[in-house]
Amino acid sequence: MGFFDQGQWTGRAYVGGWVRLSGTLEVSAPATGDVIATVASGEAADVDQAVSLGVEAQREWAARPAEVRAEVMRRAAAILAEHQDVLVDWLVREAGSGQGKATFEAGLVAAELHQAAATALMPYGQLLQSSHPRLSVARRRPVGVVGVISPFNFPAILAARSVLPALALGNAVVLKPDPRTSIGGGLFLAALLEEAGLPAGLLAIVPGHVEAGKALVEHPEVPVISFTGSTEAGRIIGERAGRLLKRAHLELGGNNAMIVLPGVDITAAASAGAWGSFLHQGQICMTTGRHLVHADIYDEYVATLAAKAAGIPVGDPTSGVPLGPVIDAGQRDKVHALVTGSIAAGARLETGGTYEGLFYQPTVLSAVTPEHPAFAEEIFGPVAPVTRFDTMDEAIELVRRSDYGLSVGVLTTDPFAGYELADRIPSGIVHVNDQTVDDEAQAPFGGVGESGTGARFGGHEANIDAFTETQWVTVQSQIQAYPF
Ligand code: NAD
Repeated sequence: MGFFDQGQWTGRAYVGGWVRLSGTLEVSAPATGDVIATVASGEAADVDQAVSLGVEAQREWAARPAEVRAEVMRRAAAILAEHQDVLVDWLVREAGSGQGKATFEAGLVAAELHQAAATALMPYGQLLQSSHPRLSVARRRPVGVVGVISPFNFPAILAARSVLPALALGNAVVLKPDPRTSIGGGLFLAALLEEAGLPAGLLAIVPGHVEAGKALVEHPEVPVISFTGSTEAGRIIGERAGRLLKRAHLELGGNNAMIVLPGVDITAAASAGAWGSFLHQGQICMTTGRHLVHADIYDEYVATLAAKAAGIPVGDPTSGVPLGPVIDAGQRDKVHALVTGSIAAGARLETGGTYEGLFYQPTVLSAVTPEHPAFAEEIFGPVAPVTRFDTMDEAIELVRRSDYGLSVGVLTTDPFAGYELADRIPSGIVHVNDQTVDDEAQAPFGGVGESGTGARFGGHEANIDAFTETQWVTVQSQIQAYPF
């Protein structure tokens, strides 16, 4: 079957090849409600089969020269560069992504492929000093089969950032994508890597619901789980993995603050804030969820942000508008309840606060306090809550009011004061003079507190840590003498 053959994923999953599984799953476009594909849906027995194939294939894969693994990643990058439009089209239709977001995401996947090719060839251990005349090394070895569970919002990159380095480092991978984005978040990646020459059995994509994810977490031959999703699910997975003595890398929710200090260019600051809150309808773990604005510039910032929000077109992203629908009615209702609940508690609606179908208008709330639900909770929708502060200590106190710790932005005329501020903020990521949303394949990405366990993805060191285990090996030329 060809790479572009849409029939490739009709009724199928990817387990040792394109196969039918026990069930099927309809994929619908959130913008229209139309069913745009049907894929196979897996259960525990399918996960079992996928893991068995992985165990078998991994031994030989790990024994191949690293250059062979790097070459598969490079070929996949070249194929993606030529046919990026296929992935962009799926991300627009299946995930409701704007064209810009989808193109940005496809670019991140390409960067991840190049990064994985390089990771395969990196040094993978240390030569140690020893108290004996011997060779003593700590070397990293692949763990075997890595289980990856991924969410719907940036489905391609959030799967790719674990799948690609894990494969490049000599592992097999079983991926369970979110059932709403099984193609852009999984099956596409399988088609790409198959076309690039990845041997069969090393990567399995099992679309499915929570039960399939649980089976992957439980599987005795999956020693490492890489999970990206909600804090609620992450807690369950972390607990289970702990009990089973397996490693779980948990990348969870966020409620990210952007501090805006006096003296900054308000138009530029509001533009950064609008991007941070509204990109992909606010459905990003790093979304700017709280705008903390100094009293001196508060009124002007709120007015400029509200004007920007009101001017952003929302609609079916296939028509080219920048903002599309939220993923489903459940998500929309949750967002709306947080907005109306905050207004009822005293927040002011500056713009938005309405929806048609799944299209939620970019919304700005002002006079938000830590007691309002829009401040206290992750919204995961296109809503910018703005809170006023008077002193730096107050701003830091407001940042710390959230138990999440993923990303913080600081807009300031004194960049090094912003840099020093990073010391006082418990956050996995701090951007000075930028909003909170960013990702680069070479940067170690991850959160603390309720955003995760401090695990990192991105860059050689973090990925080698995540997807290999250490073996201490000593070699001496003869057996030494012992007292008895
Ligand atoms: P979710 O946790 O409901 O689902 C994510 C994935 O986990 C899906 O594939 C789902 O089927 C699976 N899953 C859910 N419960 C499971 C369980 N008990 N066992 C095994 N698998 C299970 O997340 P969601 O609401 O769809 O996604 C949005 C959330 O993800 C937000 O909280 C967002 O902040 C977070 N997120 C975090 C990052 C990050 O890098 N930190 C990135 C993107 C999204």
